[in-house]
Amino acid sequence: MSQTRQIAFQWIPAHCGIPGNEKADELAKLGAEGDQPMNHISYNEKTTTIKAAMRCQSNKDDYHYLDRKEQVTIFRLRTGHKWLNAHMFKLKLAASPKCSCGRDNQTAEHLLQQCPLLEQQRRAVWPHETGIQTKLHGAMEELQKTATCIDVAGLRL
Ligand SMILES: [Zn+2]
Repeated sequence: MSQTRQIAFQWIPAHCGIPGNEKADELAKLGAEGDQPMNHISYNEKTTTIKAAMRCQSNKDDYHYLDRKEQVTIFRLRTGHKWLNAHMFKLKLAASPKCSCGRDNQTAEHLLQQCPLLEQQRRAVWPHETGIQTKLHGAMEELQKTATCIDVAGLRL
């Protein structure tokens, strides 16, 4: 019997743009090689450390970890660029801002949340109700789902 496992590799930012990182790394390596004294860290120190780590995380946008094609799709959805009819209409490049379903203007929100033409793809990608914020600004996995949904629907430039 064989088992398959899915492993997700994730790049974890170690520095978060703090100056003097190289020096800190060097000192950390030196420190790790020496004897490890028992450290008694106060509750306050622990919470400060955890909060600092969380702040670093919230600064990152998983968009940057997507492949090029996914990035293009997410970027265009976020900015309403290029092929979204509502945007094209504003630029007088499309005859109508309407989506081809005829129900509403073709915006990212319409495509990802409401468009009946994409309902099947949306259900396959998001079996549970998912907000537009998660679809456009969520973690890498969520952004990949969004790109997949648009890709599978055959919406291209
Ligand atoms: Zn539509």
